[in-house]
Amino acid sequence: MNKAELEKIKKRALEEHIPIIMDETLEVIEKYLSRNKPNRILEIGTAVGYSAICFTEFLAENGVIDTIERETDRVKEARENIKMAEVEDKINIYEGDAVEILPTLNNQYDVVFIDAAKGKYPFFLKEALRMINEDGIIFADNILYKGYVMSDYNKHKQRTAVRNLREYIKEVSENPNLETEILEVGDGLAISRIKNRGNKKID
Ligand code: SAH
Ligand code: MG
Repeated sequence: MNKAELEKIKKRALEEHIPIIMDETLEVIEKYLSRNKPNRILEIGTAVGYSAICFTEFLAENGVIDTIERETDRVKEARENIKMAEVEDKINIYEGDAVEILPTLNNQYDVVFIDAAKGKYPFFLKEALRMINEDGIIFADNILYKGYVMSDYNKHKQRTAVRNLREYIKEVSENPNLETEILEVGDGLAISRIKNRGNKKID
């Protein structure tokens, strides 16, 4: 994949204030992907396709990414970017609300990347757990939401998001089948590995 092309996509997304994955967060996920070469990734929140395009580099041969986005304009731009990056055969975009689309999916995923509506994280987790492989991993971006999640800050506008992000952290921490770390990279990244397999490398 052409790095200059990728930089162009990133620059344009930042100019349009589209909340694409931060460099240090991407680095952590890519490290895992490069060591484990997944066959199938599920991404919730495509935006303009930046993270999905980045991930394609680390797929196993014939691997694919299923990604969900509800904003029509972003889907359109994502399709253009994906075409420009020449990875159309590696990314399937599902257009619509992930809350409606996820229950219709029935694939097995090696990796799930949750990066959409914060108020829906507990629901996304439930769906991720239904479809994750027994040695899979679930990443959740923006889990610390500008520090609101770990403080007692309770501004009305963000209250539902913060409550649901806290609920997500509680669920992944208490689930005996998961081993979870919360990293303070970027806007916070939750990493939950399915337990007892222990053969997947994270660092
Ligand atoms: N993963 C992207 C960034 C995603 S930003 C990257 O790093 O390049 C989050 C995106 O999720 C936004 O484009 C938003 O429109 C979308 N989104 C939020 N809630 C959603 C939902 N319930 N269903 C589908 N898409 C959603
Ligand atoms: Mg994000």
